Amino acid sequence: MHPYLQVLNLRRDVKPARPHVSYGWTAFVLAVGLWGMGAPVPRPPVAGVDGWTQRTWVVMGTYLTVRVRHADSAYAERILDGVIDLVQDLDRRLTLYDPSSELWALNRQAGGPPLPVSEPLWDLLERALAYSRETQGAFDVTIGPIVQTWGFLEGPRRVPSDEAIARARARVGYTKVELDPSRRTVRLTTPGMVLDFGGIAKGYALDRAVELLQQAGLRDALLNFGGEIYAMGTPDGGDRPWTLAVRHPRRPDRVWREFPVRDMAVSTSGDYERFFFQGGRRYSHILSPWTGRPVETDVVSVTVVAPSATEADALSTALFVMGPERAQALVGADRCRYVLWIRQQGRHLIEDPRSVWPPRPCPSQGSRPSRTPKSNDPSPDIRPQ
Ligand code: AMP
Ligand code: MG
Repeated sequence: MHPYLQVLNLRRDVKPARPHVSYGWTAFVLAVGLWGMGAPVPRPPVAGVDGWTQRTWVVMGTYLTVRVRHADSAYAERILDGVIDLVQDLDRRLTLYDPSSELWALNRQAGGPPLPVSEPLWDLLERALAYSRETQGAFDVTIGPIVQTWGFLEGPRRVPSDEAIARARARVGYTKVELDPSRRTVRLTTPGMVLDFGGIAKGYALDRAVELLQQAGLRDALLNFGGEIYAMGTPDGGDRPWTLAVRHPRRPDRVWREFPVRDMAVSTSGDYERFFFQGGRRYSHILSPWTGRPVETDVVSVTVVAPSATEADALSTALFVMGPERAQALVGADRCRYVLWIRQQGRHLIEDPRSVWPPRPCPSQGSRPSRTPKSNDPSPDIRPQ
């Protein structure tokens, strides 16, 4: 194996001191690098050596590990302080049931008048809605009531009645969010609406962190936020990109595939992350806004590589909902969106031939990581008939 290998999808649970409802509050999947995690593969460069400085925090209910390369480790530490300040600030704004959080206030206002929101919440919401439009609602940031009904936010997890699902669905729909850019206000038009950024917030936080690192003059870094990865530059300041690996979805001790990445983000969504069993069936935490139920699919995991972590995060969630057939129009080397589909076929796992893999460097890509589609981007028809 490659000496700098970083493996995605190692399961690791965090139980925060207080329930962290905006991101779920029990099990979280980690796509971890192997720094000190005891995984049976070679280690990347050691922190403190070769100019590398690394820190890990628990935030947003999961682990954030950032490793940066800079000759002055005191400077690197100060930058890392800035990263965690930034992410904790986002976390405070997006926590669902903390009455002091901005998102709590916005959700409480559902059905009422518009509410002015902060720049980060506005920016994230605009991006989330753009991905909703692009995926024709497969990714839907208003999914909260359905997530709640299935018990994925506060528990207990259970199969709700058809009536409960219908009631939740009536409160879901990204077109029910009204933005007024001139006043920077948001109106949730239907009472009981709940915005849930669980499918995009970590990616967004990573992009903001990457911007901060770039502004600080850092070129090489590896960021891992509960499974969302951004690989900046190279592991040794040379030409060789980072080598990452998708972990085997059913065998955490095994690597499925290695692949090179440079200045790109990686996100995996899968049925093995958070789920529960009832009546012998597995119910996953990714829900179809169209049916109000966990997505029923033979897709076990979908890994997306894209220029921005927001994009990779939102798309991996959306693609899991859509499946390989409908998702084809959204991915492709020409759009710098790479995808690896792993599907269950009988007792075996297979790679779907519609995968666009392995990822290649994107020539047109600038240093800014946060590409988000415009509202007039073509959107293919991917809704179920
Ligand atoms: P991810 O692990 O990034 O795929 O995100 C999964 C999380 O996103 C879930 O735990 C929910 O909070 C939320 N979610 C579930 N289904 C959807 C959906 N269809 N659109 C947007 N967010 C979703
Ligand atoms: Mg996601």
